[in-house]
Amino acid sequence: MTTRLADGHRPIYLDHHATTPLDGAVLDAMMPYLTDKFGNASSRTHAYGWEAEEAVHQAREQVAALINARPEEIVFTSGATESDNLALKGVARAYRDRGNHIITTTTEHRAILDACQALEAEGFDITYVPVDSGGLVDPEDVRRAITPRTILISVMYVNAEIGTIAPLADVGAVAKEHGLLFHSDAVQGVGKIACNVDDLRVDLMSISAHKIYGPKGIGALYVRKTHPERIRLHPMIDGGGQERGLRSGTANVPGIVGFGKACEVCQAQWEPESIRLRGLRQRLHDGLTARIDDVVLNGHPEPRLPGNLNVSFAYVQGESLLLSMQHVAALSAGSACSSGSNEPSYVLRAIGLDDMLANTSIRFGLGRSTTAEEIDIVIDALVEKVARLRALSPMSKGAAIRIRAGC
Ligand SMILES: *Cc1c(COP(=O)(O)O)cnc(C)c1O
Repeated sequence: MTTRLADGHRPIYLDHHATTPLDGAVLDAMMPYLTDKFGNASSRTHAYGWEAEEAVHQAREQVAALINARPEEIVFTSGATESDNLALKGVARAYRDRGNHIITTTTEHRAILDACQALEAEGFDITYVPVDSGGLVDPEDVRRAITPRTILISVMYVNAEIGTIAPLADVGAVAKEHGLLFHSDAVQGVGKIACNVDDLRVDLMSISAHKIYGPKGIGALYVRKTHPERIRLHPMIDGGGQERGLRSGTANVPGIVGFGKACEVCQAQWEPESIRLRGLRQRLHDGLTARIDDVVLNGHPEPRLPGNLNVSFAYVQGESLLLSMQHVAALSAGSACSSGSNEPSYVLRAIGLDDMLANTSIRFGLGRSTTAEEIDIVIDALVEKVARLRALSPMSKGAAIRIRAGC
């Protein structure tokens, strides 16, 4: 059973939070710009440049349409890591005259947390607002953190590990009342759930193409046109002045074209797809809890990203379970960025898990290729592996109880 593989002989892909495969239509859209249409979008004196510029313009419209923004509010970057850095450092350095305080949360992506750490070294003060046991931030906690020196609030839309969807519109309302800029890392939400910059009341938003079936190495920062005055950003990369001076460097035309197409495909598909994924996630969760004891859900049941399930299999080392599953399914313990370290996930720690449960967690990232048959194969395999590992485990029920009792 466990040697049956869905896609040829490759493991079933259930790590769609780490990255997604390129959509076929996206590759088709990109191909001309990797071959014949190789012009530099900044070349103003000939047709090669014009056709590249036109393609970038169309992609800017496609990206903007997905989030209900205007094309001139989209700044192309090398990905969401750069977008997060540009948003935080760009705003912090441009608004230094107004204040030096930034509010974020404890469960942000590393790109946000590390950019904040870099800003602390430059003299900025950062408040990390805690989240509840399901990973939700309370907008009133954000309000209480505001000081006269606050310039920016940054809260991620969907947590990449536990799938919790933040109440952005409510946090945005708090930001607006106090005249503060509001940024969101929306990488895991865009193209998967409703993501309208006006409804969510964000002023800046980070997006990545490779999380929505587009190419790697391309992303965008949405920057609201007026707030009510023009939002200032200190560029991180100086040079030829592309992207209205906010991000110099020759435009990655094939990447941008692919990103645009990926957004167009998502706009057409995300709603029915989110319903389909919610059903598959339910099937997975029900199958696991019906057949395996002591499976603990991490994060809130709702509001939760439809394609995300994160559970702890008590008494089973997550690393061992992943290893035993490697020929069946591509899974992870959490974010790809922190894998490789043996530290328990800071997100799971932030929602109050003890080391034992944090070390036994598995994240399932369902996506467009996921089928009910695959889910059933993965459930069968996990039932078998968890039983085997628990039988061998020094962390077996009795042992764990003894450890907890301190003997
Ligand atoms: C993947 C991810 C990023 C980083 O995006 P890149 O385009 O790979 O740099 C940032 N934030 C979140 C929430 C992510 O999931």
